[in-house]
Amino acid sequence: MRIGALDLVALDDGLCKLPQAFYVGLDFAAHPELVAADGRVHIPIGCYLLRTGGTTVLIDTGLGDVEVTWAKGGRLPQELRAVGVAPEDVDVVLCSHLHIDHIGGLVVDEAPAFPNATVRSGTADWEQFVVEAPPEDRGRRTMEVLAAAGRLAPLEGDMVDIAPGLTARPTPGHTPGHYGFVVSSGDERAVLLGDAVECPLQLEEPDLAVISDVDPALAARTREAIWRELEGTETLVGAAHFPELRLGRVLGGTGKRWFVPG
Ligand SMILES: [Zn+2]
Repeated sequence: MRIGALDLVALDDGLCKLPQAFYVGLDFAAHPELVAADGRVHIPIGCYLLRTGGTTVLIDTGLGDVEVTWAKGGRLPQELRAVGVAPEDVDVVLCSHLHIDHIGGLVVDEAPAFPNATVRSGTADWEQFVVEAPPEDRGRRTMEVLAAAGRLAPLEGDMVDIAPGLTARPTPGHTPGHYGFVVSSGDERAVLLGDAVECPLQLEEPDLAVISDVDPALAARTREAIWRELEGTETLVGAAHFPELRLGRVLGGTGKRWFVPG
């Protein structure tokens, strides 16, 4: 996908198969299209690649090569190979947040999977997902391996410049240190929202929470602020788990908002 002069690629690491209870209070009878034949909600595990100004940036790294009851990941390396990117080509990895389906591809065999990359994530996630996590927690061990290898750099404050045309913005609530990323080139712009928005239905039902929201009220306020800013604009919006990882636009103006892929 072209954003002005920049090349943005969606990469699919695998599939989450979530129980309906993941979506707090959602009436699935009114949304049968969301439910797969096994009674679960299937959503992709997305990552994005951006090459800008000689810098190769990977946004999120998926679940990694594991299979658990709710998900299977591990496709990211072959997805990168398919677009001509080797692990050592990646200069920067941005983590929208420290949930395992976003950082699971960072470490392979107890070593950084992207040996030359600086890995950046919101510092406000560190306490809960590293310091307070059990020592055997895979996410904690992942971040400890990267810290020991000297590969970590913090993400703090508003509007953090990452590379030409790429800026990080705090989008807290799903996790305390959650960041979204703004890609801009010429007069075109795309916003990648990680899990600040789990599904497009949250435009129509802004209070719809997911059980992994650390602070559901703050997450809802963040979503509302995002929609207000994007509604009716040409800005493309994407997230880590949107259907087929398609970006789209936020339509509104009639007291209701929609996500329109394309
Ligand atoms: Zn996620």
